[in-house]
Amino acid sequence: MHPKPGMGVDIAANLASVKAEMAKAAEAAGRDPASVTLVAVSKTHGPEALRAAIAAGQRVFGENRVQEAEDKWPPLKQAVSDVRLHLLGPLQRNKVKRALELFDVIETLDRPALARTLAAALEQSDVRPDILIQINTGEEPQKHGILPKDADAFIRGCLDDLGLPIRGLMCIPPVDEEPALHFAFLHSIAERNGLGELSMGMTADYPTAIRFGATMVRVGTAIFGARPAVSG
Ligand SMILES: *Cc1c(COP(=O)(O)O)cnc(C)c1O
Repeated sequence: MHPKPGMGVDIAANLASVKAEMAKAAEAAGRDPASVTLVAVSKTHGPEALRAAIAAGQRVFGENRVQEAEDKWPPLKQAVSDVRLHLLGPLQRNKVKRALELFDVIETLDRPALARTLAAALEQSDVRPDILIQINTGEEPQKHGILPKDADAFIRGCLDDLGLPIRGLMCIPPVDEEPALHFAFLHSIAERNGLGELSMGMTADYPTAIRFGATMVRVGTAIFGARPAVSG
């Protein structure tokens, strides 16, 4: 089902060089490198790749599908208790309960109905995930996320009316635009709402994201190699 790690993909070496790039970007921005978490995006990659990353010391991983994460992670999470999983893809309301059993961070709260379902599910549960709100900074119709003009009211509603553990914001900038503008924009929305966590930056642009205040970067390809084209 999963492709083997590609020939010549050295996950430990890739992790080391991504971390070195992260530290360089943080220092250039006058930031403490420890203030940026590397989320290793392991979607489409199989157990061998995950184990290689864990063996190299990586503990924070991102997946974009609940079902795929359920197929891959429970035994590894049980064996390595400090592994933390971030959900990076859209969450259907009928999968909220399952997502809360597996994920430590939900990065993709993107609509009011999901906020209400999450609040109801958390009331019935002992788990305390961190939640990030996805902002559609590019206002792209095909992309998920809260529109910038609705962000302040949505954030307040999640915090004050629903009591959700909202820690910050995430965005995926449009592919054909300068990401720095989107990173600065996301930073400003978080700042005026008193939110500390900013998940932004992927393989192509994580050093830029760190310069603009990212506290989490989501890096897949630079660690695990290319993914099969269909699986996004
Ligand atoms: C796949 C994915 C990433 C990682 O992308 P790379 O370009 O492979 O680093 C980051 N964030 C989200 C939301 C993703 O779906």
